[in-house]
Amino acid sequence: MLQIPSERIIWKLDAIYPEFQANLKHHPKFQIGGEKEGKNIFSHFVEERVRRYSPCISKPEESRIHCSRLSPYLAWGNLSPKWVYQLTIKQQATSNRYLKNQMNRFLSRLFWRDHMIQKFESEPRIEKENFNRAFDQLVKAPDPRLLQLWEEGETGYPLVDACMKCLIETGYLNFRMRAMLVSFLTMVFWQDWRLGTNHLGRMFLDFEPGIHYFQFQMQAGTVGMHQLRMYNPYKQSMENDPDAIFIRKWLPEFQKTPIPEIHQWGKEQSLFAIAKRPYPAVNLDLALQRAKDVHFQFQKSIEVQKENKRIKQLHVNG
Ligand SMILES: Cc1cc2nc3c(=O)[nH]c(=O)nc-3n(C[C@H](O)[C@H](O)[C@H](O)COP(=O)(O)OP(=O)(O)OC[C@H]3O[C@@H](n4cnc5c(N)ncnc54)[C@H](O)[C@@H]3O)c2cc1C
Repeated sequence: MLQIPSERIIWKLDAIYPEFQANLKHHPKFQIGGEKEGKNIFSHFVEERVRRYSPCISKPEESRIHCSRLSPYLAWGNLSPKWVYQLTIKQQATSNRYLKNQMNRFLSRLFWRDHMIQKFESEPRIEKENFNRAFDQLVKAPDPRLLQLWEEGETGYPLVDACMKCLIETGYLNFRMRAMLVSFLTMVFWQDWRLGTNHLGRMFLDFEPGIHYFQFQMQAGTVGMHQLRMYNPYKQSMENDPDAIFIRKWLPEFQKTPIPEIHQWGKEQSLFAIAKRPYPAVNLDLALQRAKDVHFQFQKSIEVQKENKRIKQLHVNG
């Protein structure tokens, strides 16, 4: 059974220290920066929190405790990946097999980090251009109204909206929820990925261009080489926030709404739908079907395959 994280630790990681509040007036829930704090967060992670790393990695609430939360310190240069790697290896030497395995999974993410930064160094144009150029043919009509709903967390999909509200206040979201936000913007709202990069980049306390643009395009399906992932917000909500703890925390309007209603919000009008929250702005099933049809056609096209060869040559064989 998953352990529900204690509020005290969440607040520590989200930096609710009274003594810092004066300085952090504008962002009282941000992690505290600096090398000293980064080292403390690291020690606490490898000594305690790492034991639930894998089981919690996709869960919006539990990941806040059991993921390392080192990304801002790495992005701002408070800690170096080399230092983190070496001390993790040292900790592994005195850990049991289960913990070693958890730390290996953490280390694999650290490798991804450098791998993506290397890709960005080789092709910095991907900040503005499709990674796989064949997707230049995929043109989506911009809809400022939908973009605004997404940016403000008012899409009518509870988990999507809770994620955006949480991100705006704390500057942090786990990987799966970031991926879901991008998937939602590009596949469900059918907006060009370039419309969303600045907004999330501004919100992330750990903004790292080398990771950000590549990951954004992975989730938007414009990389071409990888298996396409589309995240259904209803499914994510049931699997990763089954008791709606995260959703209710960031959308208190759902406090009295029964949990099954929250997970199905807007699917069917219901007697219990008492929360003062918007209903879904678009039909999810239709939107996902369109996205699947279009992307699968693209994936099979000769142009995408040709570009995949170029990408492989540059980033894998080159
Ligand atoms: C659309 C999108 C945008 C993203 N933008 C950023 C960004 O600007 N800056 C950023 O640091 N991460 C970004 N990520 C990757 C990932 O979500 C965060 O690194 C991670 O959630 C940070 O939490 P953590 O430190 O607790 O991670 P842990 O799981 O503890 O991982 C340890 C470290 O490995 C690196 N890492 C973890 N996951 C990934 C990944 N999927 N790809 C590359 N490196 C990874 C990070 O440096 C992280 O601190 C993005 C992901 C997506 C889907």
